[in-house]
Amino acid sequence: MVELELGLPAENARPSGIALSPLVPPRILCFLGRQIQTLPEMSVQLLEEQLHRAESGEGGVKHTHRPTALYMSLLGWWCEEECKYGCMWRTVEQIQAEPRGEVPQFYGKWPFVRVLGIQEPASVLFSILNGLGHVVMIGVFRRRVPSHAKMNSVVHWLAVISINAWFWSAVFHTRDFSWTEKMDYFCATSLVVFQLFMWFTRFGGFKESAMFGALLAALFSGHVYYLGFVKFDYGYNMMANVAVGQLNAFCWLGFAFKNVRQRRYMWKCIATILSINLLLLLELGDFPPIWWTFDAHSLWHAGTAPVVPLWYSFLIDENLYLLREAEEKDV
Ligand SMILES: [Zn+2]
Repeated sequence: MVELELGLPAENARPSGIALSPLVPPRILCFLGRQIQTLPEMSVQLLEEQLHRAESGEGGVKHTHRPTALYMSLLGWWCEEECKYGCMWRTVEQIQAEPRGEVPQFYGKWPFVRVLGIQEPASVLFSILNGLGHVVMIGVFRRRVPSHAKMNSVVHWLAVISINAWFWSAVFHTRDFSWTEKMDYFCATSLVVFQLFMWFTRFGGFKESAMFGALLAALFSGHVYYLGFVKFDYGYNMMANVAVGQLNAFCWLGFAFKNVRQRRYMWKCIATILSINLLLLLELGDFPPIWWTFDAHSLWHAGTAPVVPLWYSFLIDENLYLLREAEEKDV
């Protein structure tokens, strides 16, 4: 690992036209993110210059650290990453020592205490809980709903897509790399899109559902292509997810409210959709992590875990209802 002597030698060119904050001595400006709150958005380049110097062994930079454990190396905690982590905490300490020192963000993320090399342990734990919820509940669904139920296969696909999405969520929150971030985002979107498809299959026949599915698959592919190969645009990604999510909520809530008088279990559908939308407020009201562990995003993941059994309970009731309805027609 690298230990940086973070003084800025005279020849260490700062990005021109950008003044260093008087709040923080230059020596700790080793790793500043693009959304940092109290400091100028300039030091990513500075960090890269320092790290380049570290790799080339120039100017007061010592290669003194080595990976402490195999699992840390496997999780990608090499020189550069280890240095960033240490510098992040030195920066936080310095800023908080100031009279009105706030908690800064680094590359759009709050500082978290890592556990066993896991960057955001709370979000990882809650992602795993969500995934486990789908594993358990698809088992319950299989036991209670006969395999010839109308939505049998689509609910199985829901479980597969959900487990995949929560797996990548756990991976991304374990280690934040560009590719893990993309996988988390794309798989989360696939889940939102699939919920919309599932709503359609509740009413549509096989042919209509296949056509609607092909349309959604084409739109999803375009979305992934744009973000993956053209431009990774956070704002657009958020807008697209919110748009499909709200369309989803509108469709499912419309369906549930229309039928709630005849089928009392529709409250489960309504409660699920409203809970998810309420929990989404956590994503908007961001705050620094409590005990450097629980931030708003991790609590959003915590909140969705108990909703999973409720959603499957609704799907079980609805499929049993469809089976009874089909039997009555046959009689
Ligand atoms: Zn997440």
